Amino acid sequence: MANVSIASVKKRFGGVGVLHGVGIEIPDGSFTVLVGPSGCGKSTLLRMIAGLESISEGDILIGGKVVNQMPPKERDIAMVFQNYALYPHMTVRQNMAFSLSLAKVDPKVAEAKVARAAEILALGALLDRYPRQLSGGQRQRVAMGRAIVRDPQVFLFDEPLSNLDAKLRVAMRSEIKELHQRLKTTSIYVTHDQIEAMTMGDQIVVMRDGRIEQTGSPLDLYDHPANQFVAGFIGSPA
Ligand code: ADP
Ligand code: MG
Repeated sequence: MANVSIASVKKRFGGVGVLHGVGIEIPDGSFTVLVGPSGCGKSTLLRMIAGLESISEGDILIGGKVVNQMPPKERDIAMVFQNYALYPHMTVRQNMAFSLSLAKVDPKVAEAKVARAAEILALGALLDRYPRQLSGGQRQRVAMGRAIVRDPQVFLFDEPLSNLDAKLRVAMRSEIKELHQRLKTTSIYVTHDQIEAMTMGDQIVVMRDGRIEQTGSPLDLYDHPANQFVAGFIGSPA
């Protein structure tokens, strides 16, 4: 596990500012949700933490260490995407083992890690299936399995449930929270859905137009919204 610090981070694409000086302290083992309307810069910030986007200004620290220039592979993070990004020609087992084989993990060790992830995610009976033979929820569990096998310091989730229907989305929120309670891995979770944010976050960061409007617990935001935007955003239906 590790804490993550975002210190005065700015991002420009070409000349256009997208993040205007963002500061967030993400405690070790917390489940922090970044929430805000589409286009406010959530994915960009997550991709910067992952090392998939450069930082225009400011610092990102993981476990107290500045990672601004560190390649993604060395960051000890694992990212779960909205579109699952599973390999269609690989079985569930192969999908979960693939990154371990790339990392030259001993096959016996890799097998044990896959078995553990399958047990945690109740995927044991599905290991020899292909992605097309799985439901949406099962695919999302495989995507999480691929993250879990790497034993990362930090999980990054980018709207992982937005392709699922409403009922399944609610069930998967609980699964992800149970996973977090079990593994206690520092998690940064991006969503535009304020109900998802309020039900899942220990700490919620409300963003708008590349700025942070408020950071706090669900109760803080509910009882003491910092401004009209937060009050309206948190109070409105999804
Ligand atoms: P969110 O995830 O909150 O919906 P994004 O981080 O995807 O928002 O995007 C924030 C803003 O940055 C948007 O205006 C988007 O168009 C812009 N943006 C994102 N990626 C790029 C890029 N590679 N080049 C130029 N503009 C980008
Ligand atoms: Mg996004």
